[in-house]
Amino acid sequence: MQEIRIELTKSPKQKPAAQSQLGFGQLFTDHMYIMDYHEGQGWHDPRIVPYQPISLEPSAMVFHYAQEMFEGLKAYRTEEGRVLMFRPDRNIARAENSCKRLCIPPVPADDFMNAMKTLVNLERDWIPTEPGTSLYVRPFIIATDPHLGVHPSHSYQFIIILSPSGAYYASGLNPVKIWIEDDYVRAVRGGIGEAKAGGNYAASLKAQEKSDAEGYAQVLWLDGVERKYIEEVGSMNIFFKIAGKVVTPALNGSILPGVTRATCLELCRAWGLEVEERRVSVDELVAAARDGSLEECWGSGTAAVISPVGVLRYGDEVMEIAGGGIGPLSQKLYDTVTGIQTGKLEDSFGWTVEIK
Ligand SMILES: *Cc1c(COP(=O)(O)O)cnc(C)c1O
Repeated sequence: MQEIRIELTKSPKQKPAAQSQLGFGQLFTDHMYIMDYHEGQGWHDPRIVPYQPISLEPSAMVFHYAQEMFEGLKAYRTEEGRVLMFRPDRNIARAENSCKRLCIPPVPADDFMNAMKTLVNLERDWIPTEPGTSLYVRPFIIATDPHLGVHPSHSYQFIIILSPSGAYYASGLNPVKIWIEDDYVRAVRGGIGEAKAGGNYAASLKAQEKSDAEGYAQVLWLDGVERKYIEEVGSMNIFFKIAGKVVTPALNGSILPGVTRATCLELCRAWGLEVEERRVSVDELVAAARDGSLEECWGSGTAAVISPVGVLRYGDEVMEIAGGGIGPLSQKLYDTVTGIQTGKLEDSFGWTVEIK
């Protein structure tokens, strides 16, 4: 593991007083982490420096061919003042897979973990404390070769920035309305859908615009070939409770393998529920909504943790779920996951990592 050089800021920023108005991803802490890669040299020169603009050639490959990957996870402060990260090993493993798919040299796992721990620890006073708030951790890698040829870059930067974030739900869990998109697609098997890559989000914006205009909060994607099977929501995986069973689309190569998804599956299985990872067709959902067996639906992802779905819209079909409210299993998952993340509940799974 390489030692991190630390250069502290001479002009620390004022920390926000009103934690409820933090929003998401708008404010950044005093410092950031950077490490460089050059072919022949490998990853080198890890450093923490004051948060600042980076300088790149206009020809840097990331701007032209989107060779980029990112991660997202959160650090929380417990009531006793301990700092916890939630399953960071999972994000590091997923980052390695994203890198492999995008021909980016992966960052060694111990350097990745040490980078996040050292930066979060340095910025621990930035972690908000009000219920639902957290410090969002955004690691990412960009291709920096100043070259317009299409090939994997020979140089990269690995950067981590931190953003104090407000409560996703201002006043308790809130059900969302979701638009099932049957025209645009996000990803296809064989593409980069299972990598956490910026390019997937560029592909998603058009449908999001459409769903916004219709008054829906997020898009639920169908498979890229037949547009018949459920994949996932914008930045969340999707779960259903159908006739007592927990059902989620199986990871098929075009779905992002969420850490919160894995957490939901492990909890539901530990609670003795019947759980199925399989193909789920939109026709099955419509039929289940009509005959009353679609009991619950929720999205899972780091930002919202659990996002209950009150309405699903597919063409002219408007499916109201759990009376448009919050199902009991969605609520239990939210309470349990956030309880473990914030140190209020015992972490019997060993999911949290204390930063000190
Ligand atoms: C990050 C992400 C998710 C959720 O993953 P988590 O690890 O649970 O945060 C789901 N879908 C997409 C497209 C994502 O980018």
